[in-house]
Amino acid sequence: MSKSFLTHLECPKCGKTYDPSQVQTVCTCGSPLLARYDLKKLGASVTKKDLAGRRTDMWRYREFLPVASEENIVSLGEGMTPILKTEGLGAALGLDNLYIKDEGLNPTGTFKARGASAGVSMAKQLGVKEVSMPTAGNAGGAWSSYGAKAGLETYIVMPEDAPDLAKKECYLAGAHTYLVKGLISDAGKIVGRAAKRYGFFDASTLKEPYRIEGKKTMGLEIAEQFGWEVPDVVLYPTGGGVGLIGIWKALEELEAIGWIGSKRPRMVSVQAEGCSPIVKAFNEGKKESVFFDGAQTLAGGVRVPKALGDFLVLDGVYKSGGTAVAVTDAEIVECLGITARTEGMYICPEGAAAVAATRKLYRDGWIKKNEKVVILNTGTGLKYPDIVAPRLPVLEVGGDIIVPEMAAGQ
Ligand SMILES: *Cc1c(COP(=O)(O)O)cnc(C)c1O
Ligand SMILES: [Zn+2]
Repeated sequence: MSKSFLTHLECPKCGKTYDPSQVQTVCTCGSPLLARYDLKKLGASVTKKDLAGRRTDMWRYREFLPVASEENIVSLGEGMTPILKTEGLGAALGLDNLYIKDEGLNPTGTFKARGASAGVSMAKQLGVKEVSMPTAGNAGGAWSSYGAKAGLETYIVMPEDAPDLAKKECYLAGAHTYLVKGLISDAGKIVGRAAKRYGFFDASTLKEPYRIEGKKTMGLEIAEQFGWEVPDVVLYPTGGGVGLIGIWKALEELEAIGWIGSKRPRMVSVQAEGCSPIVKAFNEGKKESVFFDGAQTLAGGVRVPKALGDFLVLDGVYKSGGTAVAVTDAEIVECLGITARTEGMYICPEGAAAVAATRKLYRDGWIKKNEKVVILNTGTGLKYPDIVAPRLPVLEVGGDIIVPEMAAGQ
């Protein structure tokens, strides 16, 4: 019995629709496709109260997701991550109501698990056997892991300078893992050719329509976890922008079924100065970005020089009265340390970029002291073992700790 209310896939650019019972990628016009549901039926079939007793992962929202039958759900327990009130960090930055949604607690250590769970489940439902994708690292780790669970063959291509940990994660999960002497965009071209030659499904960001649906659950959770009152500001570290597009889509669907009102958080797209195509487009009032040359930042997850869904990200930012902000790598490392010292949270550099952006926007007066602000920490810092390289004191065996300010008088 089908429990999904998915009706069709729709092009947000030209309006063309596609049959979701077939494998689909992008529109003939080149735009990503969005999943559309029968929201009337959806709204009539589930209540907020129904959610209370359900599983505590993202599949608690299964009416809002595209998978038709339970046995196709490929899950490792992703989602329903905590939203922590970060009072120490808030005090350090000057804010009274600062929260971090900690996506680092997901399987594979990042929110890529949500997209992979939805995408791999749909691949399974549609009978796909081989999946190929380019990655900066984290998406590859997630798709390899969920692919392994589903029994898919995965072919992953990543830059040679991708984090070691990501390479090992893919390899260990049995993915056919390749490195390229180039950028993620070069990896994408290799995947495109392999997809053509061998008939692999090309699961590149936003060429695959269901990853957004997985990431959308962050928006559903933010609404539910705050008692269906959305916060004032949401900051999201933006690479391909899938998370921001997804959160925005979730809130539109929730309003359509009457679970929230018309209030929206102001959406902030955060990027690194070394790769900030969306910020540049926003500052110029443009609807789309242009390829950002020489992309470089230590926050690898947001090193995306041109996103296929850039126009959807910018649309959400404009419509919400939001903004787009770039921060430096130095600010990222500084804010990673501040967050660890004030909250005990080892966040990822992408999340730290959002912390740095929060500080900047508060200083500029764009965020007010008492506003309810949510930072998406998209991954765990444990996936980035080389971000800090402290020189620690080494003691001889039998040596003692000397604390200078406490040693006086002894
Ligand atoms: C992929 C990634 C991002 C960016 O996500 P998009 O949906 O591509 O914008 C941010 N942070 C981390 C840790 C990531 O892995
Ligand atoms: Zn189209």
